[in-house]
Amino acid sequence: MRLVLLYHRIYTLDANPYGTLVSPKHFEEHLDFLTSFGEIVSLHDLLTRDDLKSGSNLISITFDDGYFDNFTIAAPILLRRNLPAAFFVVSGSIGSDREFWWDDFARVLPLLKASPLCSIASDISERLGVASPRDFCYFETRKLLYRYLKCSRAVERGRLLEIMRQHTGIEIHRRRDYRSMTAAEVKILGEAEQFTLGAHTTSHQSMSLLSSEEQLTDAVDCKAKIEEISGQPIWAFAFPHGVRYQDFDEKSTLALKCAGYRAGFCVAEQEVDCRAKFRVPRIFIRDEPGSCLAARLNSLIRTWADLRLERRRTEP
Ligand SMILES: [Zn+2]
Repeated sequence: MRLVLLYHRIYTLDANPYGTLVSPKHFEEHLDFLTSFGEIVSLHDLLTRDDLKSGSNLISITFDDGYFDNFTIAAPILLRRNLPAAFFVVSGSIGSDREFWWDDFARVLPLLKASPLCSIASDISERLGVASPRDFCYFETRKLLYRYLKCSRAVERGRLLEIMRQHTGIEIHRRRDYRSMTAAEVKILGEAEQFTLGAHTTSHQSMSLLSSEEQLTDAVDCKAKIEEISGQPIWAFAFPHGVRYQDFDEKSTLALKCAGYRAGFCVAEQEVDCRAKFRVPRIFIRDEPGSCLAARLNSLIRTWADLRLERRRTEP
């Protein structure tokens, strides 16, 4: 089977609200398991190799967003083990003073007092045409606001985050623990033979929120910026948020093809089908011990094998 794994950060912080942080210890455990589970190969090899024997696995490791720890922690671990990986970078965040909006959000939300939080949540519920969270339960409110921010354009998102920030009275400045890679770091990463650089849009906007023209412009600009920094051709693209039909659609894959990409990567717990190169599924990896990842991947592989058998049985 062919599998692509999706990591974001190899780092430890007190909070992990989106489950995107994997501790270095767990990452090492994952690699210990993965090297026995199959062969870890580059994205190019995963999509093109035709010598896969029955019962063996090809695995690719990918990282999204371009946080600094990809460079300072993940890359050295991978280099020490001589393992390939791909890094999908948000071009507009390279060397930026700003944190990603979801980190700003996770920072201000717990500091908001009940009354402004209720008034913001009521306003958003009305805009979305949905009922306000029951008793303004914190988790439901968080879910509602996150959904709204994710579906908003940058200007609206900035407006709402600014309102939230004003209510808390804190000054937003970029924290060291949340920065993106600098241009120099991206360049050095791309120079390592076993690493692949990929594009992850210019601003991490869901592609499906953009018009066809805007999607094409974004795909072209992001590719050009990372190529300029790294001096190498960028052929792979990862869709922000990555859920098919929700975050990207057929228009998005057309934009990628027109922009000169050769593959697009999404998020789904599915076996890779090399014929569908513009919606290659990736399995979201969370912070769990190597034994838990082993159990999860083995279970997925069994399910996929059963599905294959079922398909063969029912196909004419
Ligand atoms: Zn992302």
